[in-house]
Amino acid sequence: MKTSLNFEQIDRFKEDLDKCTKCGFCMSYCPVYQEEHVESSVARGKIMLIRALLDGTLEATDEMAEQLNRCTLCMTCAENCPAGTQVPAVITAARADKVRLKGLSFPYNIVYRWLLPRRRLFGGVVRLASWFQGIFLPKTEGTIRHLSLFLSALGKGRHIPQIAPKFLRQSVPEINKPPAGVEVKYTVGYFTGCMTDFVFPELGKKIINFLTRNSVEVVVPRGQGCCGAPVFLGAGDFATGRRMADTNVKAFKELDYIITDCATCASAMKDYVKFLADNDDRKREYTEFAGKIKDITEFLVDVLQLPPSAYRVAGEFKGKTVTWHEPCHLGRYLGVKEQPRKILKSIPDIHFVEMPDADRCCGMAGTFSIYFYDLSKKIADKKAASIDSTGADIVVTDCPGCQIQLIDSTTRHGMPQKVMHIMELFE
Ligand code: SF4
Ligand code: SF4
Repeated sequence: MKTSLNFEQIDRFKEDLDKCTKCGFCMSYCPVYQEEHVESSVARGKIMLIRALLDGTLEATDEMAEQLNRCTLCMTCAENCPAGTQVPAVITAARADKVRLKGLSFPYNIVYRWLLPRRRLFGGVVRLASWFQGIFLPKTEGTIRHLSLFLSALGKGRHIPQIAPKFLRQSVPEINKPPAGVEVKYTVGYFTGCMTDFVFPELGKKIINFLTRNSVEVVVPRGQGCCGAPVFLGAGDFATGRRMADTNVKAFKELDYIITDCATCASAMKDYVKFLADNDDRKREYTEFAGKIKDITEFLVDVLQLPPSAYRVAGEFKGKTVTWHEPCHLGRYLGVKEQPRKILKSIPDIHFVEMPDADRCCGMAGTFSIYFYDLSKKIADKKAASIDSTGADIVVTDCPGCQIQLIDSTTRHGMPQKVMHIMELFE
């Protein structure tokens, strides 16, 4: 049956569809295919599904959307594709067309369109959720990436961390100056992300202290919101994603650098221009915005160029063996591979050991780990085995989402490793 539907987003990435030669190399790399062993899981199969949509031989049904959603957007296929096919971009575009043509279902409409873009309201609901969490859930470590994920995670046996009694932005001033006697060399904006703000505020405080101690004035703009990753990359709601992007661009307009501690937030914000720029003004603004974004390790190594002595390891971690999980969004999306390793190798107070397949996807991938938790756990099991093989005391990473997934998997396996953000190693 031929359809007259207009797939305007997929059309923008049609070149990538045409590049695929069906060679099947991606089968050797795709973490989802390696668990499921079905063609629709792998990049090649997803391309065939999308081509069938365009041809009108397949309809944009919920079943079809589910097949496309069985993807962590890890970019491993794109990195290893001999033809250079950027499958994750096509999948994101297909999700957007599905939402544009069919809309979002009721609960997702509420969460993505009404809750996540409204920071104060969102914070209030997270606070309410923390109250329920305190009453109904045992204290443990685990996951809450966004509120919707938190609610969905209930009942699935996931290990969920406590929502912080005081959010980061309630705990620190908007402008954080270096201590008396330390000159200001840079002024940066800190994009805190939902996780650091609501769940890991101590991490945020450590980052602010680290930066101010090293001659950086840190501004935490009150107008910033969620990066929009779950909305436009996960759910395909580009219209709401655009509103969220505009909010963040405005909040950081006057600042030269935007520092993040979350590789997913950073890469989503850099992707505003690729997916959400619908006119020349937005294209210019989003491009300028993307150019300011630096992952925290990238900023410390490439911009501040700090000596090893600047990395003062907290007493409790001195002498420990530390391994590193490289988030997909850090290594493959942002190209930040060497900087965290350079830091970890240079610190005399710890012993760094590289884990096998450090850059392999951990299976978190935001909403993916909620919709397909069993599949996500299987992917995480392989990561847990890699961590275990190092004999490390601590595994560090640079994405609170990965951190939560690793906490969940190491806890499920009864492993002793402590899971932390790399910046938590320091005083
Ligand atoms: S590796 Fe690239 S060209 Fe080969 S089947 Fe996969 S997506 Fe297509
Ligand atoms: S992005 Fe990752 S999970 Fe998705 S098809 Fe490519 S390799 Fe598989």
